Amino acid sequence: MWSCGLYRLDITNKIHSHEGYMAKISINLKDGTVNKAEKQVTTIVGIDLGTTNSLIAFIKDGEPYAIKDQHGKHTLVPSIIHFDPKGDVIVGEAAKDHLVSNPERTIYSIKRLMGKSFGDVDQFDSFLGYEIIDEDTESLVKIKVDETFYTPTELSSKILQKLKRNAEKELKLEIQKAVITVPAYFNDAQRQATRDAGKLAGLDVLRIINEPTAASLAYGIGINREQSSVVAVYDLGGGTFDVSILEIQSGIFEVLATNGDTFLGGDDFDKVIVQHWMAALDLTEQQIDADKSLGQELRTQAEEAKKQLSSKSVFETTISGKSVSITKETFQSLIKPLVQKSITSCERALADSTLSISDIQEVILVGGSTRVPYVIEQVSAFFNRPAKHQINPDEVVALGAAIQADILAGNRKDMLLLDITPLSLGIETIGGLMDVLIPRNSKIPSALGRQYTTSVDGQTKLKVAVYQGERNLVSDNRKLGEFVLSGIPPMAAGMPKIEIQFLIDADGILRVKAKELRSEVNTEVEIKSTYGISEEDMARMLIDSLQHAEADMQIKVLQEAKNEANGILLASNKFLTQHRDILTDDEFEQTTSLIQSLATHVDSGTKDEINAAMQTLNTYTAPFAEKAMDKTIKAALSGKKI
Ligand code: ADP
Ligand code: MG
Repeated sequence: MWSCGLYRLDITNKIHSHEGYMAKISINLKDGTVNKAEKQVTTIVGIDLGTTNSLIAFIKDGEPYAIKDQHGKHTLVPSIIHFDPKGDVIVGEAAKDHLVSNPERTIYSIKRLMGKSFGDVDQFDSFLGYEIIDEDTESLVKIKVDETFYTPTELSSKILQKLKRNAEKELKLEIQKAVITVPAYFNDAQRQATRDAGKLAGLDVLRIINEPTAASLAYGIGINREQSSVVAVYDLGGGTFDVSILEIQSGIFEVLATNGDTFLGGDDFDKVIVQHWMAALDLTEQQIDADKSLGQELRTQAEEAKKQLSSKSVFETTISGKSVSITKETFQSLIKPLVQKSITSCERALADSTLSISDIQEVILVGGSTRVPYVIEQVSAFFNRPAKHQINPDEVVALGAAIQADILAGNRKDMLLLDITPLSLGIETIGGLMDVLIPRNSKIPSALGRQYTTSVDGQTKLKVAVYQGERNLVSDNRKLGEFVLSGIPPMAAGMPKIEIQFLIDADGILRVKAKELRSEVNTEVEIKSTYGISEEDMARMLIDSLQHAEADMQIKVLQEAKNEANGILLASNKFLTQHRDILTDDEFEQTTSLIQSLATHVDSGTKDEINAAMQTLNTYTAPFAEKAMDKTIKAALSGKKI
């Protein structure tokens, strides 16, 4: 048995926290103390990279605001990229017109393809006007324009570059750092693809945060760490709908449930108006397909009608010279089934969160389509409270991302979230205990070393298993990796001195080194400590650890008592075989029975029973140790020639 046979050896902890590397504040979540290093002025922007529209926002005089495009008109940049035949890339409003005239060179809805393999998107390939490449179903999709292949990451980076340029123009300074939002349901691959898009656009992406988290921050929810809240965020955009139930505690946002429909949004509202008018004008699908400009006219007018009906009761216009109209009532009856679908998603999310309507403390509306009064009504009715829509629903996510950026810049002293290790890092020691080397909230980079020893005689190899998390037992934490230190010369248990060092660099990469100091045998591994872990997973692990703190502590003290008792059992048994001759038969029997009793308690006793049995055994055998000592000295003396 050589695995994980590690005992913590001593208290020579060497901590080198490279102070001043990054000027940030850090807050100890336990006691709320603030460590403030010198402050550095940084401009960090918040970006909402949307399916239909994207925005960039910034904090000015403590307030977030969305930055307007180069014409100073719109804050919304349509997420559309057009490749013109000259090779120029046109992004945003100017690319919109090409959707109809040049569909094969105009890319939209790229967010749907982020981090997806061809196999994933097979089913909606036909919805898109451009060409998706089928290389093999396992690899990530590519989009073909002329003879060039683009990844969704590259295409998204074009949108990010455009936003970056808009911001640089308005703020007259270079933008290097950003917080980018993604839907709560995005998986690791999709988040990584978004992060990479930022990198490609020349941005240092400090955080990827969830859109509903950003929306909550924009409404000031979660900023005060003392307040906890349960929030429903209803996001109805152009082509997608999602609802998230968030629980916010101590500044930690946990997604309890999310639900939605990736093919439900404002575009569908436009479609039902188009169909309504087609019926009124006696137009067929074939006629529309044959006459692209008629189709475009219908769609544009339908969107206009929808927007105006948010504040007017009737909309009138002409299509191909013929007058058409639609009333608010008709519009509502047309979209009723669509809105009902979204409410069904809300019901499912609520059921998954195992909460009831009365547990939801706030309802927040996000996305341009939540401007429709009927949507506001229906959502408010379902959750039985007025849904918040005071902040511009197109901008709310970007504004929240800007607030998060401001927090990261260290401008909000009331907030946490910094360049720190989000979860503790440590190794497995005997009994499956987590021995933390780098505690949660340590500044990065940092390094720490600690010495360990073996628990079994003649152990020549040992496994170092690295874990992340706050629980006392490694089985409750997340395993990051393991490696074997081999070639240790055989020694008695407790003799080897094994130094384990954790070094975590500025990118969050953890290097773990193990070295047996007597023999100089050493080995080293590199582990990406945050790989594959989402902010939600982190939040869940933290919340779990808080909820289980009491029970975990009991398990830990019990395991520690067992470890100590096992050490004593080992030593006592050794003593009995080596020094049988100095004990009377009575003493031998009594010792054996005390050892037996301790062993039984180690198996099934409580911490107090184990400690009591250890105490009894120790007290009883203490005089024998002296006798043994005398015997050894006498033997040594008699062996010596005087
Ligand atoms: P996404 O998050 O998918 O990028 P947005 O939140 O920007 O999308 O929402 C875009 C949708 O909002 C479009 O369908 C647009 O027509 C719709 N929209 C914008 N303004 C209004 C309005 N006043 N009334 C109704 N719908 C609107
Ligand atoms: Mg959106």
